[in-house]
Amino acid sequence: MARKNVAAGNWKMNTTISQGIELAQTLTSAERDKNTLVILAVPFTHIFPLQKKIKASSKIQLAAQNCHHKTSGAYTGEISPAMLADMKVPYVVLGHSERREYNHEDNALLAAKLRAALDAGLKVIFCCGEALEIRKAGKHVGHVKTQLIESLFQLDAQEMKSIIIAYEPIWAIGTGETASPAQAQEMHAAIRNMLQKKYGKRVADNTSILYGGSVNGGNAKELFSQADVDGGLVGGASLKGQEFVQIINAF
Ligand code: PEP
Repeated sequence: MARKNVAAGNWKMNTTISQGIELAQTLTSAERDKNTLVILAVPFTHIFPLQKKIKASSKIQLAAQNCHHKTSGAYTGEISPAMLADMKVPYVVLGHSERREYNHEDNALLAAKLRAALDAGLKVIFCCGEALEIRKAGKHVGHVKTQLIESLFQLDAQEMKSIIIAYEPIWAIGTGETASPAQAQEMHAAIRNMLQKKYGKRVADNTSILYGGSVNGGNAKELFSQADVDGGLVGGASLKGQEFVQIINAF
């Protein structure tokens, strides 16, 4: 089984439901390579209406942008992995740097969320990445390694089939500054090497590793052409239908 090319959009806290439906319809109606997996990480409120609009044949999968680490209980305002599984949402994004920063999600909490998500039968887009000071200090690879060891590497090889990794340097998210293709490739190769050491070559070869950080219609092709870059997790440009179509077609 070869690993998949993935174009994942992260809508964050954007769009009304009708805007979201319009955006999704632009993507479903566009020509594209059927071997590319397209995932849309949408607000919780949009999941049900989008499920009704997106045809199964369009090969677009939905993701939630977060979930809690418990199945149920007195956690006002939270959504559990079991609730997402009950809605038949296949994916959830965990570890996004915005949640690490604004919601104080640390590696230990993310380990609990990962466990809960997999136990509920969800697949996970797991985000990792370093801040600018860490990169400037040359400690970026070690930083990402710690994020993987402390959260992801509790999983066994079988469970890794449910994981997509997204490397997202924080300094490139929403800033218009993109990691160079060489910087992305260096980190992606390092992550694949970590996967190989922990789980063996099969898991390393079959795990999709996405790059995230100001991917757009103009830079996607060069980034995705790197040997270990299997696609992108895209914020801002995923809100523009035609530009995201360009990204989907950049493999
Ligand atoms: C993201 O939110 O994961 C992201 C990479 O955002 P942007 O593409 O806007 O930098």
